[in-house]
Amino acid sequence: MENFNAANEIQDLQYFGEFGGVNPSISDSSTYTFLSAKTMFDTFEGNAEGCYLYSRHSSPMNLYLSQALAKLENTEAANVTASGMGAITSVLMQVCKNGDHIISSRTIYGGTYAFLKNFFPAYGIQTTFADIGNFEAIENAIQSNTKVIYCESVSNPLLEVADLRTLSKICKKYGLKLIVDNTFSPLSISPKLLGADIVIHSLTKFINGSSDTVGGVYCGTQEFIDDTKNVNSGACMLLGPTMDSLRSSSILKNLRTLHIRMKQHSYNALYLAERFEQDGLKVSYPGLESHRNHMLMKSMMQPEYGFGGLLTIDAGTTEKANELMELMQQENLGYLAVSLGFYKTLFSCSGSSTSSEIPEEERIAMGISDGLIRFSIGLDHDIERTYQKMKDCMLKTGVLNHEIISIS
Ligand SMILES: *Cc1c(COP(=O)(O)O)cnc(C)c1O
Repeated sequence: MENFNAANEIQDLQYFGEFGGVNPSISDSSTYTFLSAKTMFDTFEGNAEGCYLYSRHSSPMNLYLSQALAKLENTEAANVTASGMGAITSVLMQVCKNGDHIISSRTIYGGTYAFLKNFFPAYGIQTTFADIGNFEAIENAIQSNTKVIYCESVSNPLLEVADLRTLSKICKKYGLKLIVDNTFSPLSISPKLLGADIVIHSLTKFINGSSDTVGGVYCGTQEFIDDTKNVNSGACMLLGPTMDSLRSSSILKNLRTLHIRMKQHSYNALYLAERFEQDGLKVSYPGLESHRNHMLMKSMMQPEYGFGGLLTIDAGTTEKANELMELMQQENLGYLAVSLGFYKTLFSCSGSSTSSEIPEEERIAMGISDGLIRFSIGLDHDIERTYQKMKDCMLKTGVLNHEIISIS
């Protein structure tokens, strides 16, 4: 594993505000003046370095945030968007045209799944969904018109880890692009170092971390980013999922604490996962030796950031899951809400929420059982106390029914 510390890279970036402010000034403008008409023409042609034209194309604050995120992902460049889906759809529409084919992991974010399965075929772009750990099936699915292998480094909600090194080798062999959604594992996994061509994040989750906005980014070569912003043919420029400057300013400030937050999310999640497992619950967490991708994740991650903040438990049935989640919310252990990366623990039943786009029989084939609860573990200060209270809720609802009566 190449020694790369994204947190240092980000920390070394300095931007000052207009009056020497310690934060860069927000440019509160959609359009920009030019001293000469010639420069305006050159800017349209993409040839006037440092000039801004119109904020759907570029704005100073969006460039600052994009640059910091390019550092995070060790790519030449990046471009921020108004949402994670805005980034995913822009990238895929830039790379794939009518007649092209995609191979995607079958365990991906529900919105991405719905886009590939229901939306893209009408534009002549077909997707084969595959088990991302079955390389033979993936190679067999490659056709002459295949352009992309798409996956999440750690998948939603099953926490399957994609072997990015091997997938990258397959992509190189067949001339495909490896596009990786790294939303679940910022800092911990660096897909570009493992061979990914384009790395995507929903900034809505860990990177912003305060559940106050949606946002997205895609990171890649300068040439690719420029292509997506081309005024005549760029998917992002023409589809227009532009992030607002005020938002990119607040996300940039939150990015400053990402390294500290990720460590705490991971510490707390591992703590709970280990104890729930000892208690006899069906827990899935890549930090557990029992997780089938534990060694793979270890071989891909920067250890100081841990195995991430997400874990799942199987409560058996949807009814039990709902009962437990309602009780935990009542006990102020977290919120019954979708999304992730908040300071507070969030929990939801994947089958009836974020993965409900996936038809039931496919969900079952993937292993998303009806009682599967996804937890995004928060930044709780005293995780032992949280554990005791959660266990209490599990005993009360019968999700745990051990002879352990002595609840301390
Ligand atoms: C939330 C999420 C998305 C979509 O991002 P939005 O910001 O909601 O558009 C994509 N991929 C993953 C893994 C996510 O968790």
